[in-house]
Amino acid sequence: MTQVVEQSSSVSGTVRPNAPASLPGVVIIGAGIAGLSCGCYLQMNGIQTEILESHELPGGLCTSWKRGHYMFDGCLRWLTGALPPSVFHEMWCELGAIAGRKVFVHEDIFRIEAPDGRSLTVPANLDKLAQELKRVAPEDSRLIDRLIRDARRCMSLEPLKKPIELMPHRHRIREGLKYLPIIPIVLRWKNLTLGKYLKSYQNDFVRKTLRVITGSEEMSALVLPMVLAFRARADTGFVAGGSWDFAMAIAERYQRLGGVFRYNRKVKRIQVENNRACGVECEDGTFTPASTVISCADGHATIFEMLGGRFVDKKIRFLYEKCQTFHALIQISLGIKKEFPGTPHTLNLILPEPVLVDDQTSHDCFEVELFDTHSGLCAPGTTLLTVRLPARHEFWIDLRARDPRRYRAEKKNVLRRIIAILDKRFPGLAKSIERFDVATPATFGRYTHNWRASYEGWLPTPQILGRRISYTLPGLKDFYMAGHWVIPGGGLPSAALSGREVAQMVCAQRGKTFSSSLG
Ligand SMILES: Cc1cc2nc3c(=O)[nH]c(=O)nc-3n(C[C@H](O)[C@H](O)[C@H](O)COP(=O)(O)OP(=O)(O)OC[C@H]3O[C@@H](n4cnc5c(N)ncnc54)[C@H](O)[C@@H]3O)c2cc1C
Repeated sequence: MTQVVEQSSSVSGTVRPNAPASLPGVVIIGAGIAGLSCGCYLQMNGIQTEILESHELPGGLCTSWKRGHYMFDGCLRWLTGALPPSVFHEMWCELGAIAGRKVFVHEDIFRIEAPDGRSLTVPANLDKLAQELKRVAPEDSRLIDRLIRDARRCMSLEPLKKPIELMPHRHRIREGLKYLPIIPIVLRWKNLTLGKYLKSYQNDFVRKTLRVITGSEEMSALVLPMVLAFRARADTGFVAGGSWDFAMAIAERYQRLGGVFRYNRKVKRIQVENNRACGVECEDGTFTPASTVISCADGHATIFEMLGGRFVDKKIRFLYEKCQTFHALIQISLGIKKEFPGTPHTLNLILPEPVLVDDQTSHDCFEVELFDTHSGLCAPGTTLLTVRLPARHEFWIDLRARDPRRYRAEKKNVLRRIIAILDKRFPGLAKSIERFDVATPATFGRYTHNWRASYEGWLPTPQILGRRISYTLPGLKDFYMAGHWVIPGGGLPSAALSGREVAQMVCAQRGKTFSSSLG
């Protein structure tokens, strides 16, 4: 069952194109969710900003594209803080991101089906989840009990409302004490990979189910109880209208606050004088002076291209040389003139035979998401269906550059394979397809310039989870970074929160008391 929640006020209107020139104090690079959030909060504090965006639209990875009457969504599935009460919800309200739209809170996270007929519906509620897992795998009861117990203890976790750098010592200790109850959990889980943790399970179906919840065996096992905790909170859901409406609402809030967008401006270089960032040069030859530069664009390009690798230390080298990024994705979107009543919103299919998605990567299971007309993404009587598959970014990016014809042919091959599998699970699907689209790692990379086409920045492995990545670079003044490259694990809430925290730091540096208002 799905709970639908109506929000109070509504946001409407369209985003204006390039606004007239002005001399901003702060230049923000990138109009993704981090850049938009940072811009909104600085504007709320009377600091004039300008966002330079290489694309012609705001949103970054949080985007959708229209095909006929289908809105293919490239991002949002579940949003933490979609409903009150939580720190993230307060932030979304300040950014005007959700107001007026329905939020769908699903009782189940997903359903998983195996070719031998086994299936399991994974409830978000932790008591029900424990019951279901133990029903399938009584032999793993002890492990399941511990997992659920630790997930429950993570449920009350809330992010700090202020960057730690701005907290007086006493305040830091007080905040630190709030995290004491979860220290034993962190110690138990953090340094173990999910793959290693799952080896302790005897039941292969439960092992597979738990793997699907986080998506990667290379992640720290701590991600598993944390994700279960977030999903169990009644504040996590899908926002009707999806990524497009979500990003546009924040972009409109930014403009109402007086912020200025400059689209089709790809920043090539950050100008530095006397170790202070003082402006940016774009590929079109324009130069924009700035009192402060904030990069909310790709981390690797910012540090090693825009700044030429001059402001790095051991910690930064460790990140960019040793740490793993989220795998790039292929997304297959299908617009289907048919409804599938009673089908779960998210379905994981374990395949009888692996499906190949590039020269080396194959999958023995994939996730299908179904959106009906209530999602705001398709018309009545139709369904939008999305499949996302991790793939090798090198293969797809090289192929597109070297051999566009083969690139298109490979896309079609993957599409055909996926449709054939789906048609068996949903008889009649193939002949009801009205629109389709295949986005590859080359697509995500081309539109957002994310390093290795990563869709969420750093993979939260034991190496990196819990690390505080600095919002500044060593030896460089009047410069900050925000976005999913400064918060391991990434995601929309982290990107927006980092933008908020950087705004707080800029206010502090200028002797201003930070304040926020509702959008
Ligand atoms: C398929 C998919 C599904 C996802 N699902 C979810 C989900 O359900 N829930 C969730 O919380 N998160 C999800 N995410 C992750 C989330 O979308 C990202 O973590 C988040 O949007 C990152 O925001 P950002 O602002 O840090 O970066 P980006 O979105 O990458 O924004 C960076 C911006 O900078 C611009 N830029 C880059 N270089 C330059 C330059 N040189 N000059 C000017 N501009 C530049 C880019 O064009 C872009 O607009 C998903 C992501 C994907 C791709």
